[in-house]
Amino acid sequence: MHVIVLGAGLAGVTSAWYLRQAGFAVTVVDRQPAAGLETSFANGGQISVSHPEPWANPGAPGQILHWLGREDAPLLFRPRADWHQWAWGLQFLVECLPGRTRRNTLAIVRLALHSRDCLNTLLSETGIEFDRLRKGILHLFFSPREFSDAGRRAALLREFGMRAEVPDARACLDIEPALAYCGDTLQGGLYAPEDETGDALAFTQKLAECCARAGVVFRHGLGITALEAGPDGVTGITAMGGDGSPARIAADAYLLALGSFSATLARPLGERLPIYPVKGYSVTLPLAADAQAPSVSITDESHRIVCSRLGNRLRIAGTAELTGFDAGINRARCEAILRRAGQLFPRLQTAGAPEFWAGLRPATPSNVPVIGRGRLRNLYFNTGHGTLGWTLACGSGQAIADIIGGNKPAVEFPFRNL
Ligand SMILES: Cc1cc2nc3c(=O)[nH]c(=O)nc-3n(C[C@H](O)[C@H](O)[C@H](O)COP(=O)(O)OP(=O)(O)OC[C@H]3O[C@@H](n4cnc5c(N)ncnc54)[C@H](O)[C@@H]3O)c2cc1C
Repeated sequence: MHVIVLGAGLAGVTSAWYLRQAGFAVTVVDRQPAAGLETSFANGGQISVSHPEPWANPGAPGQILHWLGREDAPLLFRPRADWHQWAWGLQFLVECLPGRTRRNTLAIVRLALHSRDCLNTLLSETGIEFDRLRKGILHLFFSPREFSDAGRRAALLREFGMRAEVPDARACLDIEPALAYCGDTLQGGLYAPEDETGDALAFTQKLAECCARAGVVFRHGLGITALEAGPDGVTGITAMGGDGSPARIAADAYLLALGSFSATLARPLGERLPIYPVKGYSVTLPLAADAQAPSVSITDESHRIVCSRLGNRLRIAGTAELTGFDAGINRARCEAILRRAGQLFPRLQTAGAPEFWAGLRPATPSNVPVIGRGRLRNLYFNTGHGTLGWTLACGSGQAIADIIGGNKPAVEFPFRNL
């Protein structure tokens, strides 16, 4: 059986790997010249099982109102004349209800734990290197109110068998000495020593090479314009090469992994995917030899940014902007991230200019990805991973390969139409 995977980001490439391992003939189609060049390009690098709570939680509406109109706000809603944006926003508010938040958190934590196991197995099989660092993630709280919730969050992680500690401010500095000068407003942290970090782009591109060696065909430089369907399901995809030449490719099954663009291409088939782009930024700093940079990954909960050491670079990423499909870089938001990094690590020594980047998270209102079947017989989805596409990549890829192969996935999760 031949499967076309639409999209060569983290979701598409991991799916291609597991499909090929399961014996399928696989073709991956992407408009970029190589894998991982859109949202999977320069993310925060965290494989963060310890952060399953979605943005949509009971505290979110108040925070968003508080930040409204601030150009450097961690979460920024820019209203547009776009019905899909408003529908997404309304559903986001529904997902902020306590019962929804708990349900969504449980779905994400289960998939994240499964994904970590899948990643470990995949790495033992492929030996891929991607600046992996297994030193845990330390979540920092600078407001007493936020820190007061750390104990509850740690207890939830322990319920799932994860190690989680709630260090006070002094103990946070023992865990990551590079925080020594971050100021005296630090209240404490939540430390998940089993979490890890790594360069998602290096992983995606090296896994794509493994896929190609295993027989997966990559067709890069093809912009998919439509999925064609008949009474018996999807019959093919139409695409356009960079030189304007049209192409049509057909297979037995089709897996949509187009990130933020998944909903637009699925819509003409009558499929409503609740995915809308939520823009985020990252700043990558080359480090000097004696950089005084952290090696434990940091999540600054009060400012919604994460820092990850990727070899001799420090990646600082975060913030969220609901502003449509514009992936342009807003300098004010990058400067805000850089400023915050300077406050956390005032003695950091860099070895060159910062690199700014923006990407569109394919976000569902609940942050629970869409994995499963479409209404059409041979259409499948692995998309909508929002803030956690790197954390959830391997587990999602394996699950969708199981589903396409007619097997029950090894994880309990609200799979679509299953
Ligand atoms: C600032 C930021 C920080 C983040 N930090 C983290 C983190 O620390 N940990 C974590 O787990 N996650 C993080 N994420 C989320 C994670 O990066 C994403 O969830 C993930 O990259 C999404 O992968 P994807 O494969 O679904 O999408 P993409 O990587 O965007 O892949 C989709 C692919 O589809 C292709 N495509 C789209 N439309 C077409 C078309 N019409 N024709 C052909 N090809 C097309 C694109 O070229 C692209 O290659 C972060 C995201 C951002 C923006």
